[in-house]
Amino acid sequence: MQIRKSIDKISDYVPGKNVDDLSPSVSIARDKIVKLSSNENPYPPSTKVIDAIVNYANKVNYYPDPHSKRLYGAISAYLNIPVDNIYVNAGVDGVLDTLMKVFIDCNDKVMIPIPTFTYYELTAIAHGAIPVSVTMDENFFISAEDILDNVDDRTKIIFLCSPNNPTGNIYPEKELFKVLDGFNGAVILDEAYAEFANQNYTGLINEYDNIIVLRTLSKAFGIAGMRVGYAILPEKIKKACLKVSTPFAVSYLSIEAAYAALNDLEYINYTIQKIKEGRDYLQENIPFKTYPSYANFVLVDVSPFKSSFILDELAKRGFIVRDCSSFRGMGDKFIRVSVGREEDNVRLVDAFNNILKIF
Ligand SMILES: *Cc1c(COP(=O)(O)O)cnc(C)c1O
Repeated sequence: MQIRKSIDKISDYVPGKNVDDLSPSVSIARDKIVKLSSNENPYPPSTKVIDAIVNYANKVNYYPDPHSKRLYGAISAYLNIPVDNIYVNAGVDGVLDTLMKVFIDCNDKVMIPIPTFTYYELTAIAHGAIPVSVTMDENFFISAEDILDNVDDRTKIIFLCSPNNPTGNIYPEKELFKVLDGFNGAVILDEAYAEFANQNYTGLINEYDNIIVLRTLSKAFGIAGMRVGYAILPEKIKKACLKVSTPFAVSYLSIEAAYAALNDLEYINYTIQKIKEGRDYLQENIPFKTYPSYANFVLVDVSPFKSSFILDELAKRGFIVRDCSSFRGMGDKFIRVSVGREEDNVRLVDAFNNILKIF
């Protein structure tokens, strides 16, 4: 048996750690451990979402409706975007896989400014593309010129992530327009964290025919475990996506949970507000250099320590955070901390101070 050669070039996706990944030497009760490693919403889903999941549980002998009018209608109402320009799949990850199938022929190139979300590169290679990366400056900025200078006839996609994971900054509007104007291929703008930044570029679908905006229900909407993400995209691209994706990618219960979450904006907005306050608190009180964040996480420069060391020390104190050394171009001095609930943020800052006191 021979697997495709390109698969050997793909590094394993390194997810944020889970409670089960902690070393047995961590002697803290499981339910006391706070997971701040994957940028989930720390607040549980609202009762409306839980009721939806429970109420539809006895229907899962049926296949889901892949064109669910209610779910597409709810997204359409949320963003004021026509249903013809919306495409839903199993998380942004699922949307990305489908977009690769739509855009990539073998040895096409994709442009990825780094450091950024790792899955762009992984799915691109898996679908036969060659990733080309350009490195951001020390403030994680990259100009449109620097991006466009590294694009050629074989480049099919430019990835932009705003707010960017794991750095938390937003991509300047002026540069975004230059990229859109200067490139004929698809510009995939990942807005997974848009709700924490009061940012919304989905309306650009009416002005540009080469923009695809990605959104998810995993972060602000608080249902990461249900796996629902979507793209705002030209109708022609939506039709292509429907041809190549798995027919029932989003599960029955995920559709219902997403519909309920989108109809409970009051609760979502309440949690967003709490998270923004927590973000400010962490930025001001973590006793290391933090970077300004427009998302629900904070990037921390822990030098002179190594990220892996601080990770272990925080784990001993009951916190799982993200070591950024697995992000291409990040080095070994950054950790990413998701904003937790109020009381968790206070305890986290205490844990940081406690580490510094000892060393
Ligand atoms: C979390 C995250 C995603 C993944 O979203 P899912 O909808 O859960 O697959 C996509 N893009 C970025 C930048 C993320 O941080």
